[in-house]
Amino acid sequence: MIQTEDLEFSPRVISPEDSAEDREIEGSLRPQTLHEYIGQDKVKENLAIYIEAAKRRGEPLDHVLLYGPPGLGKTTLSAIIAHEMGVNLRITTGPAIEKPGDLVSLLTSLSENDVLFIDEIHRLSRAVEEILYPALEDRVIDIIIGKGPSARSIRMDLKPFTLIGATTRAGQLSSPLRDRFGVIQRLELYSKEQLTDIVRRSSMILGIPCTADGASEIAGRARGTPRIANRLLKRVRDFADVMGNGEITQQIASIALSRLEIDELGLDSLDRRMLEMIINGYGGGPVGLETLASAIGEESVTLEDVCEPFLMQLGFLGRTPRGRCATKLAYEHLGIKKDDDALADDGQLSL
Ligand code: ADP
Repeated sequence: MIQTEDLEFSPRVISPEDSAEDREIEGSLRPQTLHEYIGQDKVKENLAIYIEAAKRRGEPLDHVLLYGPPGLGKTTLSAIIAHEMGVNLRITTGPAIEKPGDLVSLLTSLSENDVLFIDEIHRLSRAVEEILYPALEDRVIDIIIGKGPSARSIRMDLKPFTLIGATTRAGQLSSPLRDRFGVIQRLELYSKEQLTDIVRRSSMILGIPCTADGASEIAGRARGTPRIANRLLKRVRDFADVMGNGEITQQIASIALSRLEIDELGLDSLDRRMLEMIINGYGGGPVGLETLASAIGEESVTLEDVCEPFLMQLGFLGRTPRGRCATKLAYEHLGIKKDDDALADDGQLSL
């Protein structure tokens, strides 16, 4: 018999944000080619055509915006694009580019047709964004030299390059910036079958014995997200090593994931707290996001970026102009009896 306390867990095993531990293993698990990249078929098919066309013309790929919840493979895809184009990849994030000068030095250091990947691009400051507009459109940057009345602006040409922007919130991107991306692709949550393939691939790379049922059990609770699937695989391995002979079976995966308080659909304690607060605290909703976040002591961005896409995909949560509502399915999943029929299946209040 093992005690859960014997094993070390990160505070929220199913947070899709990456941790130092993830980064350690992610390098080895990242697919290198479009062929190895599992799922997102429409995105892959489109990109394959754009990449082939750009290569035939000897031009850089058009600027690409990838959006979708964290952990779905945006960084991985940008590395694949650079690899398939046969060019270098530079990776940075919106908040890391503090001043316009930071962006200027990044852009001027790129070699011909290189890919610049900016994660969390919605967090670029306005001053930095303004440098980016002419860089994206005309491959030039305007630099101000000197100060005061003697200041003058000089224009510098840039080498052809591709910007890949990634964001969890396409809606927060300013429209002049959004308009400068020729390719805009949304990444979707993965199906259980696709995640099963990802878990099997990762277990092979990491040398973890895992049965088909075991992989499928992990996949079914990974809330549509490869990063979470890979993380759960590592956690379940600890249980398999201590409780069994090291092989991940369906039974071991199921026991381990229940110990981690991840239920059979992949909801963790935060998802359940959120739904329970809407139901027990606000009569099923509607309740505003900020009110909900402070009632359960969580950041509203976490609820919006992490819990909501998944709960909405399951059909447990509805968004209305007046706030969030729990659906009939959410009541059923949590085993809470609904006193009336005020809520329709989609969480909209029926009037
Ligand atoms: P994002 O940039 O969207 O937050 P990442 O690209 O960092 O996500 O992906 C997280 C991890 O999930 C990567 O280490 C990679 O191993 C895995 N992964 C993501 N997408 C796929 C995929 N389509 N096929 C296989 N593994 C994937």
